[in-house]
Amino acid sequence: MLRLDGVSRLFGGLPALDRVCFDVARGRVTALIGPNGAGKSTLINCITGVDTPTGGTVTFQERDITGLAAHRVSRLGIARTFQNLRLFPRLSVLDNVLCGLSGEGGRSMVMAMLRLPYLRHRERLLKLRALEALDRFGLADKASWPASILAYGDKKRVELARATVGRPDLLLLDEPVAGLNSDETAAVGEQLRRLRAGGHTILLVEHDMELVMDIADQVVVLDSGRCIAVGSPDEVRRNPVVLEAYLGQ
Ligand code: ADP
Ligand code: MG
Repeated sequence: MLRLDGVSRLFGGLPALDRVCFDVARGRVTALIGPNGAGKSTLINCITGVDTPTGGTVTFQERDITGLAAHRVSRLGIARTFQNLRLFPRLSVLDNVLCGLSGEGGRSMVMAMLRLPYLRHRERLLKLRALEALDRFGLADKASWPASILAYGDKKRVELARATVGRPDLLLLDEPVAGLNSDETAAVGEQLRRLRAGGHTILLVEHDMELVMDIADQVVVLDSGRCIAVGSPDEVRRNPVVLEAYLGQ
């Protein structure tokens, strides 16, 4: 579904990504692991148009999307969460999730103000979908709250609801359980398992090795911007190069 071919990103002459190559298979969970500063977030940014690679190509469903603007990448069916939360603090939780449907309803939401019955109906349907997404993450009762007053763990889950509400073809998750307590981590882990069972394709950046080993079909290891291993969780766990670079701390 997604192919990275020699993707590089230089910052001031220093490579944050150095000719990274791997594929993300449809319907599978690919975990992207590596020490802090390995280039994981930079790679997600280069796939989603938040950043532009200085070399190599990104191909999504047979289409070259290298350097495409973020809003166009999102319209192709790629959704993401951010390592550092990016919610609109003054919007309600529901409106934050509705932003994940802007490609489908943005215009009709404006037109709904003209009070055309058909468009008001569409607006209601979109709200219903956003509420369902919130419900999947146990947040339906907080739909009308301003996002700013939520606890950190709830904000992380609002981001997940926003990223999944449009049923994207490819979901990129940048450390979805970082900073969550063990109960919250278990709940998000369960959600990720459900998404996988529902046939979603996921690229998951995660430090929680237990979660990675449990949920991933394929593991990619980055170290100093280079891809040092690709394989099944078991293969990667036993790979001496990985043990030395990362797991053997
Ligand atoms: P990870 O997500 O694996 O922890 P990052 O992708 O955030 O790593 O960072 C990879 C490297 O690129 C780090 O050395 C970081 O300092 C550098 N880097 C990331 N973004 C920028 C930027 N906007 N400008 C300069 N250097 C950056
Ligand atoms: Mg990161």
